[in-house]
Amino acid sequence: MKTNDMTPVDLRSDTVTQPTPAMRAAMLAAPLGDDVFAGDPSVNALQEKIAALLGFEAALFMPTGTQSNLCAILAHCQRGDEYIVGQFAHTYRWEGGGAAVLGSVQPQPLNHQADGTLLLADIEAAVKPDDAHFARTRLLALENTLGGKLLPLDYLQQATELARAKGLSRHLDGARLFNAAVAQAAIGGAQGDVWLEARRIVQCFDSVSVCFSKGLGAPVGSALCGSREFLARAHRIRKMAGGGMRQSGLLAAAASYALDHHVLRLADDHALALQLADGLRQLPGLVVEPPQTNIVFVDLVDAARARADALVPFLAARGILVTGLYRLRFVTHLDVDAAGVARTLAVMREFLRA
Ligand SMILES: *Cc1c(COP(=O)(O)O)cnc(C)c1O
Repeated sequence: MKTNDMTPVDLRSDTVTQPTPAMRAAMLAAPLGDDVFAGDPSVNALQEKIAALLGFEAALFMPTGTQSNLCAILAHCQRGDEYIVGQFAHTYRWEGGGAAVLGSVQPQPLNHQADGTLLLADIEAAVKPDDAHFARTRLLALENTLGGKLLPLDYLQQATELARAKGLSRHLDGARLFNAAVAQAAIGGAQGDVWLEARRIVQCFDSVSVCFSKGLGAPVGSALCGSREFLARAHRIRKMAGGGMRQSGLLAAAASYALDHHVLRLADDHALALQLADGLRQLPGLVVEPPQTNIVFVDLVDAARARADALVPFLAARGILVTGLYRLRFVTHLDVDAAGVARTLAVMREFLRA
């Protein structure tokens, strides 16, 4: 353990990663054009690559996951429609209510079960009859992983089959789709093929949004995948939302590099999250949720809870960055290593044993 190394260990989010030297080299080497004229070869190549990897007709490169989800919801729904979504889903809770504000699409939020799923019975009960009193229920939006939790594949199949039977479209916020695929491959036995698991997840949906700027380590960008006809509508909305970018191949090249080099290594982030969780579990005053992917949630209890205000500043003063107060969140990623986890545990121990 490099105890004298004061490089911050930034566990606030997997968005904080810096592009690696090889990724920067790929960006600098990328051929560029104007993507509003559909003339950026690097953007076109990325869109074709992610669509083919996930088994969709086409894909659209987006500046952010928020804009990608917004374009998806607005392409699936009209004014006065509603979409069914979890209370803790990013699209509902963390995107400024964009679907309602910008699209007049009403969310119908449902409570999650402890494993992150929405009860099938709750989904079914939330679908409104065709009656002038009600908004038209048009879409089911799920998220995987959700707060680091892997939704079971058989659940995804059942929920999306129910939605299909009720005439709803299905959208997946797969900001961390590849974390889900890596975790699913790991529990699926020795044959676990990450790309196959990713396709099995997204096959349940009409559209999927994936982030390159989270665990994949690219600086910017998401992709929205779906049918050509769906993406033609999303493309118009992206333009309206100000998301028509020009020489964005510079960014697409980073995303493309990430797809080639940073997907399978997500298993390392998951292993570090487990290591961190195991270490934290030994400390007093903490209740640690077993991580399934790269996010560790920890509740402060007893004496530790009484000192909660002081913990995040104490960690920050020692170069360990986390978010939360009574419930802390630690996220592992490309720029966190075993030494960083060891330092985090040492500083947590110092605080809790004081
Ligand atoms: C990060 C994230 C997004 C998109 O976030 P941006 O910061 O807009 O790129 C969407 N959904 C989930 C689940 C996320 O974690």
